[in-house]
Amino acid sequence: MMDVATYQLLDGRRCSEALKTRIAHEAAEVKAARGRAPHLAAVLVGDDGASRTYVEAKVKACEAVGFRSSLIRLSASTTEEELLALVDDLNRDAELDGFIVQLPLPKHIDPDRITLAIDPRKDVDGFHPVNIGRMVLGQKEGFLPATPRGVCELLTFYGIPTAGKHCVVVGRSNIVGTPMSILMSRNAEPGNCTVTIAHSRTRDLAAITRQADILIVAAGRPEMIGADMVKEGAVVVDVGIHRIEDRSRKSGFRLLGDVRFAEVAAKAAWITPVPGGVGPMTITSLLQNTLKAARG
Ligand code: NDP
Repeated sequence: MMDVATYQLLDGRRCSEALKTRIAHEAAEVKAARGRAPHLAAVLVGDDGASRTYVEAKVKACEAVGFRSSLIRLSASTTEEELLALVDDLNRDAELDGFIVQLPLPKHIDPDRITLAIDPRKDVDGFHPVNIGRMVLGQKEGFLPATPRGVCELLTFYGIPTAGKHCVVVGRSNIVGTPMSILMSRNAEPGNCTVTIAHSRTRDLAAITRQADILIVAAGRPEMIGADMVKEGAVVVDVGIHRIEDRSRKSGFRLLGDVRFAEVAAKAAWITPVPGGVGPMTITSLLQNTLKAARG
């Protein structure tokens, strides 16, 4: 017989709606004080369907909280030099508080070179080495990477205790896994975890993930985490997001995470859904970072 599910949902939509109410209020204050609303620009190079969806969602979120937003679309044949020239213009634009260059970029453009060219004061994705350095040092200036910041906000919103817990992060990318592991180990709230970071070279991953009080999965592998890899009563955060073709749906696809939701939910105390978990939190973090940039 199946266990009766006792999990509670870490509902990213609900949390982000609550945070957005506050952001809208503060955006109005900024506008009243300096005569213009916070302004975010998003640069999209090429026509990748998923990237377009993400960027459009970011622009829509700006409108919902009273920010100004600009969407700059460039063709897939844009050269690195052309993109660097645009970044330079955006860095100098006094009417713009922050901007992002949506990843992934076409293969002929080096993303590190682009990130490095962004003025750290406008790097609201929090990817620039200056902002990463500030995060590592625990400095309050600068911007935290949007997705890990969003996960922290979600844990805070639901009052999940983290101090002294064993947090296992699966994935070590520069934009999710690595910063996530740093934030969870900081002497801060949330934080103060003992952190293990796992990756594709980790041996016996299940033996590691089963030790997690808090399991954060950002491996980019659809449904790789099953119930046998999770401790009873764990907090499970699924960062993964995959579009799987599904002809039965009007959209032609459905979204899956890195975690097999139904079976893991039966064991977990708390779990994020996909969609509606970390995704909305990433966008909300971007708004929070833009607001911070606008406040100067
Ligand atoms: P990357 O592909 O850059 O990194 C994946 C990481 O997972 C790597 O460190 C890799 O290890 C590790 N990994 C891959 N396979 C395994 C495995 N079998 N066992 C253990 N570790 C493994 O992905 P990202 O960090 O950019 O993104 C991760 C996922 O999160 C993706 O699905 C992405 O779409 C999603 N995402 C969602 C966001 C949201 O807002 N919800 C935002 C950003 C990303 P190694 O380093 O050894 O290769």
